[in-house]
Amino acid sequence: MTAAPIDGNALSQQIRAEVATRAAALTARGHQPGLAVILVGEDPASQVYVRNKVKACEQAGVHSVFSAYGADLSEADLLGRIAALNADASIHGILVQMPLPAHINAHRVIEAIAPSKDVDGYSTLSAGELLTGAPGFRPCTPYGCMKLIASTGVDLRGKHAVVIGRSNTVGKPMALLLLQAHATVTICHSATANIGQHTRQADVVVVAVGRRHTLTADMVKPGAIVIDVGINRNEAGKLCGDVDYPEVAQVASAITPVPGGVGPMTITMLLMNTIESAERASTP
Ligand code: NAP
Repeated sequence: MTAAPIDGNALSQQIRAEVATRAAALTARGHQPGLAVILVGEDPASQVYVRNKVKACEQAGVHSVFSAYGADLSEADLLGRIAALNADASIHGILVQMPLPAHINAHRVIEAIAPSKDVDGYSTLSAGELLTGAPGFRPCTPYGCMKLIASTGVDLRGKHAVVIGRSNTVGKPMALLLLQAHATVTICHSATANIGQHTRQADVVVVAVGRRHTLTADMVKPGAIVIDVGINRNEAGKLCGDVDYPEVAQVASAITPVPGGVGPMTITMLLMNTIESAERASTP
């Protein structure tokens, strides 16, 4: 079997076109959606991520406000900036790029964002809404993975899904979203004995570890759908995921490439959350 690549760029373009249409409709009614992006420090990867987010906003007709601060910004000043954005009616989403410098308490910062503007879906309230199945903002990367899985046409009801990784931002929300879609879910992590024993039973495998070759062909059931969240570099410095793509592609039925799979979808779902926030705010 040779897997069909799941094209995250193409799906992103499709969803971003929908985002742009909804943004234009809001703007026509005098409610242009707005996203505030905050960067603290000079981490080069973070600089690239925020630049891409701001560019995606511009392309979709979403107003963006970008604030960049030096690594010596105090936590109090950052909280002050967030309070101002919370009160700004032209802003519907606030994103603080992680990681923050060590002297700033990231949890306090995330919790300071107004729940109605938590478009990253990282706050305790958003996590609780996801856990209980209440409406709310879903973390962008797992939300994007669900769209990628849906694009294959698979009905997750009754399927066995295995998530490798249990971070608060990817692995755990991913597992909850799969559960909400009626999959039977197994979560593996660094202390799991014999991960292959679990993944070999899986109809869907989502890998979010940050280590090359975490998922190899012998760990995959023929015909499974494989979603690779990981971002790594190989010996040649080229971007790659957590999955041994060329080998696993011989066994799986569908697989996301790195780059061009999950990555573009993360930004797209951030835009989608911002639009949904703006639509809510514009409804009397
Ligand atoms: P993280 O917070 O470091 O979590 C990694 C998870 O992997 C942890 O739960 C850890 O288990 C588990 N793990 C580590 N080594 C393992 C092993 N040998 N076997 C099984 N599990 C293992 O990372 P993250 O934020 O979830 O991100 C994961 C990867 O996705 C990274 O490469 C990140 O760059 C990438 N990412 C990509 C996007 C995107 O848009 N494409 C977005 C977010 C993240 P323990 O909990 O037991 O330590």
